[in-house]
Amino acid sequence: MAKIIDGKAIAAQVKEEVRQKVAQLAEQGVSVCLAVVQVGSDPASSVYVRNKKKACEAVGIKSLSYELPEETTQAELLALVDDLNARADVNGILVQLPLPKGLNEEEILDRISPLKDVDGFHPQNVGCLSVGKPGFVSCTPAGVIQLLKRSGIAIDGQECVVIGRSNIVGKPMGMLLLQENGTVTVTHSHTKDLKEVTKRADILVVAIGKPRMITAEYVKEGATVIDVGIHRGGDGKLCGDVDFDSVEPVAGAITPVPGGVGPMTIAMLMHNCLTSVALQKKISV
Ligand code: NDP
Repeated sequence: MAKIIDGKAIAAQVKEEVRQKVAQLAEQGVSVCLAVVQVGSDPASSVYVRNKKKACEAVGIKSLSYELPEETTQAELLALVDDLNARADVNGILVQLPLPKGLNEEEILDRISPLKDVDGFHPQNVGCLSVGKPGFVSCTPAGVIQLLKRSGIAIDGQECVVIGRSNIVGKPMGMLLLQENGTVTVTHSHTKDLKEVTKRADILVVAIGKPRMITAEYVKEGATVIDVGIHRGGDGKLCGDVDFDSVEPVAGAITPVPGGVGPMTIAMLMHNCLTSVALQKKISV
């Protein structure tokens, strides 16, 4: 029986720590404010945005909400980002993805000030991560590191395999595991004999975007399996990229879906809002 890594409980710990630090800052007259921008009314995005705003409220971070119509133009959205970049009272800026077709996501994300880029997607922050300088780290992989550390799972010297090389999960995940002295392999759709590679992993992080694809055959006995995937099945239930029922008897530890990585993403966003104040005001928080 694998140990179940409780992402909800660990996310609650992280948020409580953020709440305390936000309260300390408030006593020093420093407030923390996140601007959340949503374009259009994609139902999944609306849920994510609502959850992010609720999390802000719970930890004492002020959130400003910008709900723009589907027809918003690139120029209008860029102008809003410029305005938020210039405002001293706004510490973090989050543009909810995906943007409606016709908008150039890359241009919008690159326009967000690197000092307010709480999602950690700006190339400057990606560069800082790769050379180990302070900056924002993408919330989901940062959350995975916290899950491992706070569950007492050693990374140092371990074989770590990441499935997926997206800019928001797989690549930064690989960099973070490397920073923690893991021996890291990042795999993708061109990887030959994926099972052969994943079976070497002491820590297997799965961010593949394919419901329940990873079964016991991909996993070494006793490995830690972190499932980043999130899908809603036809029955309305959530599942991950890992076939939990197949893998759980083989793994040493595993994250469930829901209740694993998902809650950590929002907790780390709250943490990144604190980072934004630290970077902007050149203080430690
Ligand atoms: P992407 O679709 O951007 O990336 C998927 C990656 O998986 C790609 O690198 C792709 O390779 C690789 N891949 C696809 N098929 C295979 C295969 N058969 N064998 C090996 N590699 C393969 O997804 P994301 O990184 O954005 O997200 C991954 C998952 O995590 C999704 O389920 C998403 O919903 C979830 N997610 C969850 C979050 C959370 O908060 N819990 C946050 C963000 C994402 P290639 O590059 O060669 O195409």
